[in-house]
Amino acid sequence: QDDIFKNVVSHAKEYGFIFPSSEIYDGLSAVYDYAQNGVELKKNIREYWWKAMVQMHENIVGLDAAILMHPTTWKASGHVDAFNDPLIDNKDSKKRYRADVLIEDYAEKLNQKAQKEIDKARERFGASFDEEQYKTTNPRVMEYLSKKKEILERMARSLETENLADVKALIEELEIACPDSGSKNWTDVKQFNLMFGTKLGASAESAMDLYLRPETAQGIFVNFLNVQKTGRMKIPFGIAQTGKAFRNEIVARQFIFRMREFEQMEMQFFVKPGEEMKWYEYWKTTRLNWHLSLGLGKENYRFHDHEKLAHYANAAADIEFNFPFGFKELEGIHSRTDFDLKAHEQFSGKKLQYFDNDTNSNYTPYVVETSVGLDRMFLAVFSKALQEETLEDGSTRTVLRLPSVLAPTKAAVLPLVKKDGLPEVANKIIEDLKWDFNVAYDEKDAVGRRYRRQDALGTPFCITVDHQTLEDETVTIRHRDSMQQDRVKISELRDIINNEVSM
Ligand code: ATP
Repeated sequence: QDDIFKNVVSHAKEYGFIFPSSEIYDGLSAVYDYAQNGVELKKNIREYWWKAMVQMHENIVGLDAAILMHPTTWKASGHVDAFNDPLIDNKDSKKRYRADVLIEDYAEKLNQKAQKEIDKARERFGASFDEEQYKTTNPRVMEYLSKKKEILERMARSLETENLADVKALIEELEIACPDSGSKNWTDVKQFNLMFGTKLGASAESAMDLYLRPETAQGIFVNFLNVQKTGRMKIPFGIAQTGKAFRNEIVARQFIFRMREFEQMEMQFFVKPGEEMKWYEYWKTTRLNWHLSLGLGKENYRFHDHEKLAHYANAAADIEFNFPFGFKELEGIHSRTDFDLKAHEQFSGKKLQYFDNDTNSNYTPYVVETSVGLDRMFLAVFSKALQEETLEDGSTRTVLRLPSVLAPTKAAVLPLVKKDGLPEVANKIIEDLKWDFNVAYDEKDAVGRRYRRQDALGTPFCITVDHQTLEDETVTIRHRDSMQQDRVKISELRDIINNEVSM
């Protein structure tokens, strides 16, 4: 699994998808730049989402709110007081950990200890070994596993009640159960606010403290009535937005899974109070189906229903995806009640209510939110698409089986040789196709190597111009996934490509 993940990171760099930010200065931790191919893939994911949410829903409209917002926004939303992660410092190593992640790491070590015992037993007993039975009967294995379970449950409770002293005691207990690298000298657990601060204004006295938004949702809430009135929207309706969000994450070690600057695709759906559970279920299903439509494999998704709810929610679930490092949150679906609108009403003193023409009365709508990280989507798609294949002749190829609709380049046009007028014909084809698709030209190296390069970039089609093309205006079109080649008329190309890549 580690190897797969390393492969993903290096492929993303080598083929111009993702670079570390400001790399010539050794990068900036958990900040990344999207390169020439990455920017196209990312844009296509964003458009795929936008089309499904805004274009396909008559009652959902878009918005592009500013990243900087009035600072009271974040008081009202609860982010100033409650957007914290618990962190703990190690005095020996001078390293800083997110407390919950540290506890999970320890729990994983307990798991490994149990696994070691199991592996030893398997060697001893051979083919007749029953792992499940051994797990429930061997005292050492049972001790490791039950300790792990117990400690994780205590952690969840301590974090929920913000009992940081207990969190610290847990870590110390785990250090004894799983001694790591010598003595660990922990500080107290502290709450660390994840928002990035900045200042507005020139002079020190008049400057105003601002935050870079940690989520895009609040831009939607504060505009709720503006959009509803000017768009003459009737409940239920939604407002969708994509844009940057910033979090000063303490743990930043999983490439673009957890970044300090990232992009969200969020939709807030305003409903009549009492109808929120119906819509919550509707959006859970609808969003899962959107993911499944990309064809990355049903088995790679699962729901995780939250038992512990955020202060604003009355129901919440994650859509988890099977990343190279296991199942992790990809998208959140939250029933946020009227928490946000009520809070903004209170802090701003402005009414944020919906006037229902049918009943001639006002009410504060409830909100169901869907929130997916664009970069996490990118990682999900990219990591599942990247495959090493052994071919019939025993050779291997690296192929990025991106859903065609998302592929950065839809077709590469390749003259078989660099002479005899073939490049000119290839360029003419490009001139014609580029109005509809991203197309690339490549004349360097043998054609087989060019095919492999396009495979690694995820390009669904290669179009090869050869001497026969000069005689009968046909080319070969090669399919990335099957590697099948067909002879077709130049005039048919647009339809063939369009059939496969259109949304
Ligand atoms: P996590 O538990 O992983 O920190 P979260 O529950 O805080 O995530 P939300 O606040 O619900 O996440 O944000 C919605 C979505 O935004 C997440 O499902 C995820 O896809 C994305 N997201 C959140 N934080 C980050 C980040 N630091 N980097 C990239 N994407 C993120």
